[in-house]
Amino acid sequence: MSAGAAPLPPGSTIGILGGGQLGRMTAMAAARLGYRCAILCPEADAPASQVAALTIRAAYDDPGAQRRFADAVDVITYEFENIPLAPVEALARLKPVRPSPSVLAICQDRVQEKTAMQAAGIGTARFVPVVAPGDIAAATAAIAPGILKTSRMGYDGKGQARVAGEAEARAAFARFGDVPCVLESIVDFACEISVVVARAADGAIAAYVPVENRHAHHILDETIAPAKVAPAVAEEALRIARTVVERLGVVGLLAIEMFVARDGRVLVNELAPRPHNSGHWTIDACAVSQFEQLVRAIAGLPLGSPERHSDAVMKNLVGDEVHDWPRLAAERGACLHLYGKGEARPGRKMGHVTRLSPRGG
Ligand code: AMP
Repeated sequence: MSAGAAPLPPGSTIGILGGGQLGRMTAMAAARLGYRCAILCPEADAPASQVAALTIRAAYDDPGAQRRFADAVDVITYEFENIPLAPVEALARLKPVRPSPSVLAICQDRVQEKTAMQAAGIGTARFVPVVAPGDIAAATAAIAPGILKTSRMGYDGKGQARVAGEAEARAAFARFGDVPCVLESIVDFACEISVVVARAADGAIAAYVPVENRHAHHILDETIAPAKVAPAVAEEALRIARTVVERLGVVGLLAIEMFVARDGRVLVNELAPRPHNSGHWTIDACAVSQFEQLVRAIAGLPLGSPERHSDAVMKNLVGDEVHDWPRLAAERGACLHLYGKGEARPGRKMGHVTRLSPRGG
């Protein structure tokens, strides 16, 4: 599919790599537009499989499964960015993958991500790559205290440690298994915000309003839409979002996590080339959700309006919190979403609930 190509007709099949709740909610949005979804994932009874037309249960790097999956679908996307890159590149030779594997590669690596931001003139925390133990002395001479993060495969605060100086950095680097890392300065932030932005193949862009994200135990707890930030901060966050999707040539969806520093600067922390937990509120508060927007972007349909008809607070149901579902189901006006997962293990995202209020300014 290239810019200006005809949209995928209803009845076409969208392939999703990964079987989690993001794939599930994407498949539900795709179904609303008359599309089918096929899932490729190694897990049994995955949340996305429960609502998809077809699941191929196999390892991502299984060549036979890749061929069957590619034969079954018209376009491919992915629902988590820690998916191994090589199978995604192999699939891209068989069917269009949106966002492209080159976008995925950048988003999988914190150093590449921050370097791309720098090249676009967008602020980040100060950072120094730490590839080997020999890099640690110079890195901590430049930045201390700081946060040492593994460059790849980090999520929900995993693979990161606050370090006061060289000795702690050495210990953390060894604990992470001597893998490439980045040492970041600690940002004194007023709040954390994010923007979910879609870009179509013809270059059209639609961004949702910046939202505030509050974390508990390194996991997103609540998203407040819109973020209560100064108009200039919201405008800057949206400008950054548009710049990033244009510079990276994203076709699909990108979530951009940012810090609002106490001095007012907006600094990019992380990119995710997929639907994002901080965009779940759009299901209930916008005419077109982040999931439908992704489907529209990759299927070549016009992007929908990202306008919200209501303000919203989204609360994640993590681990045991899901056991509150009977009360939440009875709460008037609460929009309850459960992901069909079996065991409510600590830290596992089991569902979310969104509460709407009349739209403010
Ligand atoms: P990350 O995995 O990069 O999203 O980081 C997880 C959380 O750690 C963020 O949401 C912040 O609350 C905190 N954090 C990460 N990096 C920094 C930083 N450079 N300065 C201050 N806090 C940070």
